Amino acid sequence: MSVDVDVVIAGGGPAGLMLASELRLGGAGTVVLERLPTPTGLSKALGLLGRAVQTLDYRGLLERLGAGLVPVGAYSRFAHLGGIPLDVSRLVESAPPGHFPPPVPARQAQVEQVLEERARELGAEIRRAHELVGLSQDKETVTAEVAGPDGSYRLRARYLVGCDGARSLVRKQAGIGFPGTAPTQVLRLGDVTLSGPERDRVPVGILRTATGLFSAGPLGEGVVRVVVSEWSQPPEHVDRDVPPTIEELRAAVRRVADVDLAMRQPRWLSRFTDAARQADRYRAGRVLLAGDAAHIQLPAGRPGMSTALQDVVNLGWKLAAQVQGWAPPGLLDTYHAERHPAGERMLSFVRAQGVLLSPGEHVTALRELVGELLTHDQALRYVVDRLLGLDIRYDLGADRAPAHPLEGGWAPDLPLHADGGDTRLATLMHGARPVLLDLTADGRLRAAAAGWTDRVQTAVARSDEPLDGILVRPDGYVAWAAAPGDHNTGRLRHALQKWFGVAR
Ligand SMILES: Cc1cc2nc3c(=O)[nH]c(=O)nc-3n(C[C@H](O)[C@H](O)[C@H](O)COP(=O)(O)OP(=O)(O)OC[C@H]3O[C@@H](n4cnc5c(N)ncnc54)[C@H](O)[C@@H]3O)c2cc1C
Repeated sequence: MSVDVDVVIAGGGPAGLMLASELRLGGAGTVVLERLPTPTGLSKALGLLGRAVQTLDYRGLLERLGAGLVPVGAYSRFAHLGGIPLDVSRLVESAPPGHFPPPVPARQAQVEQVLEERARELGAEIRRAHELVGLSQDKETVTAEVAGPDGSYRLRARYLVGCDGARSLVRKQAGIGFPGTAPTQVLRLGDVTLSGPERDRVPVGILRTATGLFSAGPLGEGVVRVVVSEWSQPPEHVDRDVPPTIEELRAAVRRVADVDLAMRQPRWLSRFTDAARQADRYRAGRVLLAGDAAHIQLPAGRPGMSTALQDVVNLGWKLAAQVQGWAPPGLLDTYHAERHPAGERMLSFVRAQGVLLSPGEHVTALRELVGELLTHDQALRYVVDRLLGLDIRYDLGADRAPAHPLEGGWAPDLPLHADGGDTRLATLMHGARPVLLDLTADGRLRAAAAGWTDRVQTAVARSDEPLDGILVRPDGYVAWAAAPGDHNTGRLRHALQKWFGVAR
């Protein structure tokens, strides 16, 4: 069946642009349809944390985001659990080296710019001012109906991925349900200019008062992001179709934080809610969902963009393998099997933070209790790992239990010594190809994997870790690992076949 392109991606936000690169690295052709003619330059997200930072590091993209300038201790500036500050720097010294990747304070607009540049470099076609207006699928293809600047047209592809945000047309047209919890509060947001003396009057951090919630944070050049929510205004009392105004924001700030701020020149005014919803399936035939199209939540703990990037890095190589024809049966369905539970867990954590941010004396008592628990290092470590997504593990399938504790988890960025010089695992992952590290003295793992060299890159190296070998999927998760002296190469071959198809 002839198609115009392997994969159509609807939506050129962080999810769509990152997916475009992942598909190109995997050898699939892709067109990104983005309805906006130019980037807005506005940023919902103001930073990336934890596992998302590690993920970008494994693609060599951190330098482009200007990372490395921020020390790990900077997490303490903005890491909190429902407004309860988390002293991450207290944990850093006792954590294994590299456990906490540095926070990346890059704005969403900057992330999108870097991802778009990278996707174009790799040969993705990005069509701006092209809106997806409909889709249909049969057994072999999916057809996108597109409204472009020169008229409407159809684009036929083997797969279509909806990265088209919270109100996803793709999700609706594919008939995918979006169950979850309804909003309990509306938050007003303004990126506004404040004069120097005015900025000094702004209350610091997240304020939970008798009348609502207030937070403010500097964005540079005199611009401050103000967010406010009032307990007395349930969502049904706010007409969200009426455009937000600076007067409305100022009045809400006055009522909640008891401060009258002379806000000027708003760069962006918006409203959002704490609704938490998740697509009931991430795949319907040849249509898949990722990012906000698959889950929406309160930005408590900054999960949105980070989760979106991890969705598409999980999906990209599997979809490319499917298109390239070497995907083993069921590989593409592991996308839902792995990322849906990860999304569900993230939503549950965000809802819990939403409760900590809600009104009432009972909640105040709960906050006190949680604050006391967080003085214990073990509790703090649990919460911080969860906040940063460092606890994410995938169930590698019911056919066997993990035989090595690393399996199913993130592959640590091992320093490696090889004949060609020292390197690290992150560098080997830049091309989004699976990596087999053979750390044995006799190179027996490389020999065992000889039938997969067209799909799996093998590196013979030495490491100071107590490991004989490790097989890392393109998304950075460990498919197989062997302790020193584990001579069972059958387990390795089983993992190679399960994830990367039969030997050739
Ligand atoms: C106030 C606020 C603060 C936040 N802060 C953080 C934070 O600090 N850290 C964090 O990780 N996350 C944060 N988030 C969440 C984060 O912004 C989102 O999770 C992220 O934008 C999701 O990316 P995405 O690519 O899935 O969707 P989007 O960014 O929504 O991108 C979707 C794209 O699809 C396009 N599109 C939509 N429909 C169509 C169509 N039919 N045809 C073609 N194109 C279409 C849109 O124009 C858009 O460009 C915040 C969110 C809010 C509201």
